Amino acid sequence: MQLAVLGAGLTGVTTAYRLAEEGHDVTVIDRREGAGLETSFANGGQLGFREVSPWAAPGVPWTALKMLGNPDAPFRWKPKAELAQWRWLLSFLLRCTTNARTERERHNLTLGLYSQKEFEALLKRLEGEGAAFDFAHRKKGILRLLPDERAVEEARAEMARLEDMKPGLDVLGAEACVALEPALASLHQRGKLAGGLYAAEDQSGDAHLFTRALAKRAEEKGVRFLLGRDITGFEEEKGRLKAVRLGKEKVEADAFVFCLGVGGLSLAKKLGFRLPFYPVKGYSVSLPAPEGAPEVSLTDEDRRIVVSNLGGTLRAAGQAEVAGFDTNLDRERAKSVLRALEALFPAVESKAEEAQFWTGLRPMTADGSPLIDKAPGFRNLYLNTGHGTLGWTLAMGSAGLICDLIQGRKTAIDPEPFALRRPSLFP
Ligand SMILES: Cc1cc2nc3c(=O)[nH]c(=O)nc-3n(C[C@H](O)[C@H](O)[C@H](O)COP(=O)(O)OP(=O)(O)OC[C@H]3O[C@@H](n4cnc5c(N)ncnc54)[C@H](O)[C@@H]3O)c2cc1C
Repeated sequence: MQLAVLGAGLTGVTTAYRLAEEGHDVTVIDRREGAGLETSFANGGQLGFREVSPWAAPGVPWTALKMLGNPDAPFRWKPKAELAQWRWLLSFLLRCTTNARTERERHNLTLGLYSQKEFEALLKRLEGEGAAFDFAHRKKGILRLLPDERAVEEARAEMARLEDMKPGLDVLGAEACVALEPALASLHQRGKLAGGLYAAEDQSGDAHLFTRALAKRAEEKGVRFLLGRDITGFEEEKGRLKAVRLGKEKVEADAFVFCLGVGGLSLAKKLGFRLPFYPVKGYSVSLPAPEGAPEVSLTDEDRRIVVSNLGGTLRAAGQAEVAGFDTNLDRERAKSVLRALEALFPAVESKAEEAQFWTGLRPMTADGSPLIDKAPGFRNLYLNTGHGTLGWTLAMGSAGLICDLIQGRKTAIDPEPFALRRPSLFP
């Protein structure tokens, strides 16, 4: 089958690679000059297969309200005269309940654990092919830092809720956290660490290096990359998508997969359907790892950042700004991620001058799960998008699921929770 994958971010490249491995003739189209240059460029580096709770959770609206006016607040909302923004916010607020969170947590964990299986199988196949596949991969787990006893109790409750799914989570005391990650000693001495939730099997690495390396391997497998091409329109014929238009050029295929991140919102409208996600802006800071920098990837509940060691580079990422499509890098917002990192690890201050900042727009659904489905009104258009905070973590599982759907075979996991028109997105 001839397939066109629209978008060369994490979701597009993993989908294209998987389709090529299955023997299809694949073309990837992207407006940028390389793979993974938009939201997949400098993310937090976590493969948090078990860190998949949606952001919409009980207490989140109250926490956001309390932080209003604080320049270092991890959330920011810039009201826009846009129906899409208000609709998204309303949906998000309605999802901030215990039941809604628990429901999505389980669906995301199912996809997360499947994604890990797919990821490890993919790495094995890549290794089997011989050439190096380097992306600063670390298999040291992810430790969620719990600042106080209340957070420890909540982590215990989360473990109990998910126990039947056997995810492999452990609540550690503060001393055990320091034994696991000595870089936490100073935080513990300052009395700011009550414990941690440890997912020993979770991993980390450089998502952009991964995307680029996989795109290269895909090319070697015969995948064509049409880069620097803006998708400007479509040609349809009786419930089929016939071609995508790239200015004067066009690309025809038997089937198409939509992996366009936030760029997909306006293109979906051209095709007559709405994608129920919205851009949520985040920031990251990368600097040379100081001596004694953490090796275990960390999620800091208190400062709302994630930290990953990318082999010589320490990266922290955070912030959630609901502010439309604005991609400007606000240096003060970016620096607040650096300040949070310094508060965790004071040694970072010595490297602050060398810090590089980045910002990206997460394609985020209100319920915190991606959209993996056939597009409405088309027999041959598929969606693999809306991965929000979990684009790398869920990419390999999502690619497996969409490939099963395209080929009309039995899916490895139930696709229903990731359907476009699921009730959790249309309350
Ligand atoms: C600060 C931050 C930290 C994060 N940390 C993590 C993390 O630790 N772990 C994790 O799993 N996830 C994380 N994420 C989320 C993850 O990075 C995203 O979910 C993921 O990158 C989305 O991938 P994508 O392929 O859907 O989108 P993108 O990477 O944006 O790819 C979409 C592609 O479509 C192309 N495109 C769009 N419109 C057009 C058009 N008209 N014509 C042609 N091409 C077009 C774009 O150029 C782009 O290359 C983080 C995100 C942010 C912002």
